[in-house]
Amino acid sequence: MFSLTPLQAQIDAAAGDPLRVLVVGAGIAGTTAAQLLRVRGLHPVVIDRATDLTETGYMLALMPMADAALDDLGVHDAYREASTHIERYRLLDRHGSTVREDALGDLLSVYGDYRGISRGALLDVLTASGAPVSTETTVTSLTEGDDSVHVRFDGPSGHTEASFDLVIVADGIHSRTRRFVPGGQNPSETITDWGGWVVWAPDDGDSDLGEELWGDGFFVGSYPVKGAVGAFIGGPTAQTDAGPAAFVDSIRSRLNDSTPRLRHILDAVAEADDPFYWVLDDVRTRPWATGRTVLLGDAAAGFLPTAGIGAGMAMESAWVLCRTLEGIDSGNIHRALHAFEAAQRPRVESAQSNSRQLASLMFRLSTTLAFVRTLVMRFTSIKIALGPIIRLLQKPTAVPELAETVD
Ligand SMILES: Cc1cc2nc3c(=O)[nH]c(=O)nc-3n(C[C@H](O)[C@H](O)[C@H](O)COP(=O)(O)OP(=O)(O)OC[C@H]3O[C@@H](n4cnc5c(N)ncnc54)[C@H](O)[C@@H]3O)c2cc1C
Repeated sequence: MFSLTPLQAQIDAAAGDPLRVLVVGAGIAGTTAAQLLRVRGLHPVVIDRATDLTETGYMLALMPMADAALDDLGVHDAYREASTHIERYRLLDRHGSTVREDALGDLLSVYGDYRGISRGALLDVLTASGAPVSTETTVTSLTEGDDSVHVRFDGPSGHTEASFDLVIVADGIHSRTRRFVPGGQNPSETITDWGGWVVWAPDDGDSDLGEELWGDGFFVGSYPVKGAVGAFIGGPTAQTDAGPAAFVDSIRSRLNDSTPRLRHILDAVAEADDPFYWVLDDVRTRPWATGRTVLLGDAAAGFLPTAGIGAGMAMESAWVLCRTLEGIDSGNIHRALHAFEAAQRPRVESAQSNSRQLASLMFRLSTTLAFVRTLVMRFTSIKIALGPIIRLLQKPTAVPELAETVD
């Protein structure tokens, strides 16, 4: 569990650490990194802009690249307990008919777990041993010197200042803090002009099934977590402007077939009270690392949802970063950060490119292209569609050996 802690108390606890670390953002990446550093005896200072960190949030389908961090934290069993195994992936065409069903869980089991969990439940698992955090707190300036980074904060008790050996910027896809890092001032973005609603639906008894409908101008996805199904319905923003109930009506009018899951999800979205609207854009930042500051998770590379891989890569990156920092003193931080970026950025960008390719297949308006896509997908297994990500799983990250890196 997070324990809300005054910022100065966290700064004081870190003062005697061999590495004084600040983590900006207590999301999936920041929390994974902070907990891994705590296991190694450090007292990272963790801040988050949010007021409330206890929300359930949305559904996550977590790929096996999350497993190494869960193992190091000793929470893998608790994670399995709080999540559900996803075995089947079913693809529907624009009319609602099944194109194919793949044993995705079986395919991924060679590499580890493939499970559905809510964001809130995952954060609970990660923070089971306790996790001090200062909420409603942001960074207002960050100045790197040779020996430390000087940071100014704004929080509930006003302005605070402190110096750190390392700052990990993990404040998500819309990061404000990355503007203090050279590459973060002008990140490149993919703007899809698509968006949609994220809602929870009750468990429908198919707790191992993920289902997606790739339409012509609409998309419906549903992913199980323990005790519920997370759903997403999206389309071009010009059409979702009509609101969830009207958009669901327009989808229903275009279907001549359906599955029980699809009906369940359409009902849930149509009846949802003010559901969360998600704009489907991504962001890519280069470089990630300066001398003593590094971007992590979505702040470094924020994903389109199409491959369901953002959180998995965020946890993998946190694990690689913390392993790279093992045994490093303050004087070698810059080498460690550059070695981390050299090892991990190509992997993350490859997964991000896979998500972009899938987006260009899924987010289609043309009926003709959707028809051709259905024909192709009938003969294209999920293994082929996720090819670049499967290759990442086949060849896990090698933690960089600092002695081999060039200064
Ligand atoms: C609806 C939805 C479904 C998704 N489904 C999947 C999936 O199935 N599988 C998957 O792997 N990934 C999925 N993702 C992506 C995944 O959630 C992200 O890739 C992952 O959460 C990234 O972790 P992060 O820590 O970088 O960012 P986040 O988890 O977003 O955390 C960022 C944190 O920073 C805080 N913050 C923001 N601004 C500031 C600031 N200025 N100062 C301090 N703190 C700040 C926020 O409050 C938040 O706590 C999904 C995302 C969404 C939105």
